Amino acid sequence: AKSQGGNGYQFYTDDMNQRVNSRLTLENELRRAIQAQEFELYYQPQVCTKTNELLGAEALIRWQHPDAGIISPADFIPVAEDTGLINDIGDWALREACSTFYRWNMYRHRPLPVAVNVSVRQLSDGFPSRIKDILDHSGLSPSLLELEITESLLMDNVQQNVEWLDAIHALGINFAMDDFGTGYSSLSYLKQFPISKLKIDRAFIMDITSDVDDEAIVRAILAMAHSLRLKVVAEGVETEQQLEMLKRLQCNSYQGYYFSKPVDKMTFEKNFLEPMPM
Ligand code: C2E
Ligand code: CA
Ligand code: CA
Ligand code: CA
Repeated sequence: AKSQGGNGYQFYTDDMNQRVNSRLTLENELRRAIQAQEFELYYQPQVCTKTNELLGAEALIRWQHPDAGIISPADFIPVAEDTGLINDIGDWALREACSTFYRWNMYRHRPLPVAVNVSVRQLSDGFPSRIKDILDHSGLSPSLLELEITESLLMDNVQQNVEWLDAIHALGINFAMDDFGTGYSSLSYLKQFPISKLKIDRAFIMDITSDVDDEAIVRAILAMAHSLRLKVVAEGVETEQQLEMLKRLQCNSYQGYYFSKPVDKMTFEKNFLEPMPM
């Protein structure tokens, strides 16, 4: 692996041997990073389409590499999943998000929930009780924690995954189905899972103002969600035109660069929370 200065970290090359080598390097680097606590959570606001009122935030992990700078989760989560390191990283993310939101909720009139991404690889017999410990330790109410899980991998082992999700849901934690529409799960599976929210993938929002098919898909998702009493968040809203369209379709909440990119903790406090007593 070689550093590329500021933003990029060149782990992969076209050469096969190099690639294997780099993957090993990345795995070792990840082990080191867990010890050295080089991860950080950024937060992206979820807001009301009509009023821009803050409804919650999604936690998105970043790796502050000492040489390479900020490394995106797309570049290391897959390796973390393959190596099992996702468990340590995922537990850390849950601890960090829960304690931050416990603190942020102490002085709020209206409760602010946090959504944490969870990989299907993190699901196991021990996971529900670990989450309970993390919640108890942080003091955060389970109702203020939401777990985002992507549709596709969930369908590989439906029965077992339903069991694990039910055990977590029994703690009072809600689930959101992430990247909804990109997997190809049948709707009959969807209703087996304790899901209370759908997140419409950015792929359908991107061209929603010009592509009538995308508009129709979003319309259909909203109609289905409504009749199943599911909440909906539109992802990746970048323009005022997209937001206007979502309002017209009565999609009640969204996140995206149009309102704010994911930002670090201090910036989130400064931009979106009322000043807290010291
Ligand atoms: P995701 O959960 O679908 O997160 C949404 C991604 O879209 C984030 O990328 C976010 O920064 C980006 N995004 C938000 N608004 C916009 C927009 O308006 N336009 C565009 N172009 N992009 C937008 P990010 O932060 O790079 O995360 C990538 C993926 O990494 C996430 O996709 C999620 O699957 C995974 N991830 C992030 N944090 C964690 C984590 O703590 N644990 C696990 N297991 N996965 C994580
Ligand atoms: Ca997500
Ligand atoms: Ca998503
Ligand atoms: Ca995604």
